[in-house]
Amino acid sequence: MPEQGACTVVVGCQWGDEGKGKIVDVLAEGVDIVARYQGGANAGHTVEVGDDGFVLHQIPSGILHEGKRCLLGNGVVLDIGQFFEEYDALVERGIDLEGRVGVSTRAQLLLPYHRLLDRVVEDSAAEKIGTTGRGIGPAYEDKAGRRGVRVADLTDKERLESRVAEARDRVRRRVAAMGSGGADELDADTDRVLAMSERLLALATDTGREITRALKDGRRVLLEGAQGTALDLDHGTYPFVTSSNTTAAAAATGTGIGPTAIDAVVGVVKAYTTRVGEGPLPTALDPEMDEHMRQLGGEFGATTGRPRRCGWFDSVLTRYAAQVNGLTGIAVTKLDVLDTLGEVQVATAYRLPKGDVTEVFPADVRSLVSAEPVYESMPGWEQSTCDARRLEDLPTKARSYLDRIEELTGTPVQWVSVGTRRDQIIPVH
Ligand code: GDP
Repeated sequence: MPEQGACTVVVGCQWGDEGKGKIVDVLAEGVDIVARYQGGANAGHTVEVGDDGFVLHQIPSGILHEGKRCLLGNGVVLDIGQFFEEYDALVERGIDLEGRVGVSTRAQLLLPYHRLLDRVVEDSAAEKIGTTGRGIGPAYEDKAGRRGVRVADLTDKERLESRVAEARDRVRRRVAAMGSGGADELDADTDRVLAMSERLLALATDTGREITRALKDGRRVLLEGAQGTALDLDHGTYPFVTSSNTTAAAAATGTGIGPTAIDAVVGVVKAYTTRVGEGPLPTALDPEMDEHMRQLGGEFGATTGRPRRCGWFDSVLTRYAAQVNGLTGIAVTKLDVLDTLGEVQVATAYRLPKGDVTEVFPADVRSLVSAEPVYESMPGWEQSTCDARRLEDLPTKARSYLDRIEELTGTPVQWVSVGTRRDQIIPVH
């Protein structure tokens, strides 16, 4: 089994949807606590356990392992209604959650007016970002603007009401100024959500303190990110990014532990690349191959059902992800999706408009739009990998492909996933 640190971060290294849910589910077996450090209900992790498929938006996928404690850190924006829907659905399916879920007292609340604003702004934007319309951006804007409402604020009803009323009125004015409607239900919707305050407060905890103590007591912790490195607010393909830091350093700020507490960072990479929403995807496939790959990989969003664009493996991006996240290992997922292809390609560099070839992921989104990938072609293995459980079980050509990914990313491959099921995983080293 690959060596796993006491405090490990699992981070997506592409544009999200890398299969983090599955890797967290596998690694969660060996830990006591799983904590989510950023994002909101826009990210959907899909985890298959036996014949059951669970889509988790806010509660860490560690919840599917009996007895593990699952935390939502201060870095998340919490949609209370959606959270309890997910919570109750898990209970309905027989999962015992008693004492197992904790929410940071410092987590920001995502309220109905954030959703409204998100939809209205995206609908009227000249340059669409491709948001999921779930209010994540506006909730983080309120956080940075120091207008947000946090879980701890739920204890002071009077102050809470005045802050919420002020924020709601501000949104109403903005929506009206843009000539949009939809604000009539805001009062009722907000009241309905805030009626769950007591229930939420019963789960409130200081996540930083809890995790730090657990580590001191010799327990093991997994910190789980949402989305991926290329969607990081600072390091991603700005402005086509999410509104928070998705990269590994955010695991510390987003849970309240110090960076020195983290001792391993596992980067999840798909064996190819996908992107949902707007923004550049340098290794995008031609339309026919794109459709083929989407069908092979079932590349449709877990939350929105949106089709994802598909591309070849982009090592310029994953090398960058290795640097930004300080990866100690990678988990390659969905290798099986490539099983039937006669040839696979890997981008090793980008050719920029003036002809320069670079191995560096550019900061400027326009360079990325016009970047032509330099490809290396490798023979496909044309053989099923679904039943492989050890590296030796894989076809030689599939192993060469993994070796090349490892070499180009400069990071050891620690896990290879060859199917949706929990047991379809190959521990490497
Ligand atoms: P996440 O947000 O990073 O967890 O990714 P998603 O849940 O959106 O997408 C991952 C999808 O791929 C889910 O439907 C998983 O069941 C599936 N998946 C994960 N690993 C593998 C794999 O190795 N092979 C195949 N075929 N599917 C996988």
